[in-house]
Amino acid sequence: MDHNGKLYIETVGCQMNVLDSELVVAALRQQGYELTDNPKEADTVLFNTCSVRELAEQKTYSSVGRFKRAKDHNPAKVFGVIGCMAQQEQERVFQRAPHVDLVVGTGQLADIPQLVDEVRRSRKRKLAVSLGRKEGNRDQVAGSFASYVPLRDPQMRPSPWQAYVRIMIGCDKFCTYCVVPNTRGPEQSRPPQDIAREVVSLAEQGVKEVTLLGQTVNSYQHAAQTHGAQPVGLSGLLELIHDTPGIQRIKFVTNYPKDMTTDLLEAVRDLPKVAHYLHVPLQAGCDDVLARMKRGYTTADYAEMMDRIRMIVPDCAVSSDFIVGFCGESEESFQKSMDSIRQYRFKNSFIFKYSPRRGTKAFDLYEDDIPEDVKKRRNNDLLDLQNEISEADNETFLGRAVEVLVEGPSKWTMKGHVPDVTQSLPGWHDGASQADGSAVVQLSGDSQSQSDSSDIGAVGLGTTQLVGRTKCDRIVVFDGNPRLAGTLANITIQDCTQTTLIGSIVTRQVQHSSHELLPILS
Ligand code: SF4
Repeated sequence: MDHNGKLYIETVGCQMNVLDSELVVAALRQQGYELTDNPKEADTVLFNTCSVRELAEQKTYSSVGRFKRAKDHNPAKVFGVIGCMAQQEQERVFQRAPHVDLVVGTGQLADIPQLVDEVRRSRKRKLAVSLGRKEGNRDQVAGSFASYVPLRDPQMRPSPWQAYVRIMIGCDKFCTYCVVPNTRGPEQSRPPQDIAREVVSLAEQGVKEVTLLGQTVNSYQHAAQTHGAQPVGLSGLLELIHDTPGIQRIKFVTNYPKDMTTDLLEAVRDLPKVAHYLHVPLQAGCDDVLARMKRGYTTADYAEMMDRIRMIVPDCAVSSDFIVGFCGESEESFQKSMDSIRQYRFKNSFIFKYSPRRGTKAFDLYEDDIPEDVKKRRNNDLLDLQNEISEADNETFLGRAVEVLVEGPSKWTMKGHVPDVTQSLPGWHDGASQADGSAVVQLSGDSQSQSDSSDIGAVGLGTTQLVGRTKCDRIVVFDGNPRLAGTLANITIQDCTQTTLIGSIVTRQVQHSSHELLPILS
């Protein structure tokens, strides 16, 4: 099945899709494919898709449409639509985009090398999707989604030192607006030992930060392997992976409010590498709307959870999602969402206008009765309020020093203002971090340049704008040497915007500590 062709892949959607693309690319590269960012020179073009909002689907159809002429000119090119939209749309993809050869759902991604090969040889279309939620019993449907590609591909990661790790797939919550229980299937948790092994192997590849992924990640629960033992929940999993050598920070997304247990919050408090950041979508501040959404909790439940978070992890940043303009959302209901942003002062919120999705309960049961201009106005009102709160909260950091895990050059830098050096950092860890994890920079009276060959500035690349995140997931930009990427650095915050803290590196001289001295011989 070896093939020495070129692969082009476009990915939209959430972190889960980014991870899926990494696994698909790894599997295809093992067959001899080379990754290209130029679709014209590719002989296999894949679109990894999202189905959560109508807009995402429309965008995918228009992206796929762009390639129709390329297919006419070169019928041997293989075009594939993969992931959530493939599972949701199935045959409809072929009807709307007849030049597509391959439609592969989230449960069949592991089979992509073989499926591409079959299409190439047979010149026939292939559809590979999982069972619908009502097309078999739970085990049969779950089995049709259980797909795990153990390969990883560093080239597809957010950065060489950050990696996503899937700990569960699927969702059984069935919120009335959501397609995920159909596109990702029943909730299934991976064995904890498999996850721990994957984290060790990522750390051996230089990864410093892992983000554990699940649609409702804190619902993670794996049955005990030995008789009489307790099942392993997310807190147990965090304990299991916490001491992995090389890993400096652990995050997990996305949380479901009802499953935010006290033992999980205690693990966040007690395990020093776990980020003090929780993304826990509220979706609406009104109980009537939450009930129509079938979210499974009330505003009182959410308030109780927030109280526990504030009590157990007082410095924890919390972010949320909101849907505006859900069916039947009155102005009074919407104002309650505004009130909840004021009450909880989320670090940030992702705000979406409701769009009905075929295959969901809301699509069948409720009328999409909120006019588009009202949805837009509510979206803007919520966003403006959230931005105001985010900026005020960011101002409380002015003058403070924060510890940041450096991700690399900022987007501004990556757009070509200075050279991208992240690809040439084999020695980026050499001497750049201390045992206590803090970055040490020796300076010669000038905070913009480094002094001698023993310090980080010795690579001769000068400083550039870098970006990193605090333990509570706040974005920080500062000038520094690109070789700081992947290390922990102390930054003093001098300015801020709604979304970003702006600072400079706290510098200190390297000093010999007493335990490094030879004992006095007597
Ligand atoms: S919890 Fe609700 S919104 Fe989240 S993935 Fe499951 S069904 Fe969708």
